[in-house]
Amino acid sequence: MKIIVLKFGGTSVGTTDRIKKVAKIIAKYKKKYNVIVLSSAMSGVTNNLINLSRKISNNFSDSEYDVLVSSGEQMSCALISGELINQGFNSRSWMSWQIPINTEGKYKFSRINKINKSKILSYLKKGGIPIITGFQGINNKNRITTIGRGGTDASAIMFAKFFNAEKCIIYTDVDGVYSTDPNKLKSARKIKVISYEEMLEMASLGAKVMQPHSIQDARLNRVDIEVRSSFTDNEGTLITKRKNIINSKIITGISNTTNDAKVTLLGIRDKPGIAASIFKPLSENSINVDMVVQNISANGKETDLTFTIKSEDLSRTKKIILQNKKINFRDLIFDKNVSKVSIIGVGMVTTPGVTYRMFQSLAKQKINIQVISTSEIKISVLINKKNVRKAISALHKEFKLNK
Ligand code: ASP
Ligand code: MG
Repeated sequence: MKIIVLKFGGTSVGTTDRIKKVAKIIAKYKKKYNVIVLSSAMSGVTNNLINLSRKISNNFSDSEYDVLVSSGEQMSCALISGELINQGFNSRSWMSWQIPINTEGKYKFSRINKINKSKILSYLKKGGIPIITGFQGINNKNRITTIGRGGTDASAIMFAKFFNAEKCIIYTDVDGVYSTDPNKLKSARKIKVISYEEMLEMASLGAKVMQPHSIQDARLNRVDIEVRSSFTDNEGTLITKRKNIINSKIITGISNTTNDAKVTLLGIRDKPGIAASIFKPLSENSINVDMVVQNISANGKETDLTFTIKSEDLSRTKKIILQNKKINFRDLIFDKNVSKVSIIGVGMVTTPGVTYRMFQSLAKQKINIQVISTSEIKISVLINKKNVRKAISALHKEFKLNK
């Protein structure tokens, strides 16, 4: 019998009633498949555990943090198994260390590198339904680790990889990936199929459906993912390789960020090494710089530089720049009222004029573009926050995403 991996997110297991519904979904698949289940903690539980650690200390030990915050998954897995047992199924919960699921890297941000298959395989052979804790693993010191917030997505994908599952189904509280945020635009449409590359851009650019790391894992390991809701029976979105997709649309989706800030240095020296001197201390302080533009210098001596960061990094960035003795500038300007809007689609690789159409439709709405950046399958613009809805709506129409 074929193997299928089912992942349930926090809201899907948020109450005991929800867990009963989840058990019904599992039972349905059990008729046709060997089912492996990965579960997140009940919604809110992980956050509560993190808050407890903060009450002890803001410098809470990383290794104990992982033991603490991964405990929510133990609870939800036991509840799911308990319900399945009630219904007469052969089921049990598995903690990461009982399998084991091996991870490498630092506490809080480990990555799964190996899953021992033997116990789970023999359990499946006996007809059992394993309910496995997402988010956690063990390291080579036999200590508990976690793999980053929202990590159960990645756990599920790694199980699908190691067990060569036919598919990995991510059950969440939305019924798929949409052309843009349905809360921002009513005419947003569900995307039937999307490539890993597009999904990765959508996820890291602000569509919060799946954890970006996990999509990268799926892409590298060629795991097909279906995202669907445990609250409805609607068909979800399939995330797969580009080759499997026949698509008539140039643009697949539009995403936006909400917490960007723009930093501009006016009148910096135009000579080699200046940009490096500005960005070196930022990178040393783990401040992620996103978009960057430098003006061409009119007089050959001076130029201006603009870049964007997450707004929570703004005050640290300010301090670092002001303390930086390697650079001189005339003025330093900050703007917190900016957002990045991006159009994403593999179709733009082969279609000319996409950039023009994007800029033209923003111009028609009198929306000023402050910074631009592009990749092979994405064009991003930085605009005033207040224009985000208008921009998304205009672009959604321009690229016929309503249809
Ligand atoms: N419970 C963990 C979190 O809230 C992992 C997950 O939900 O996937 O981040
Ligand atoms: Mg979660």
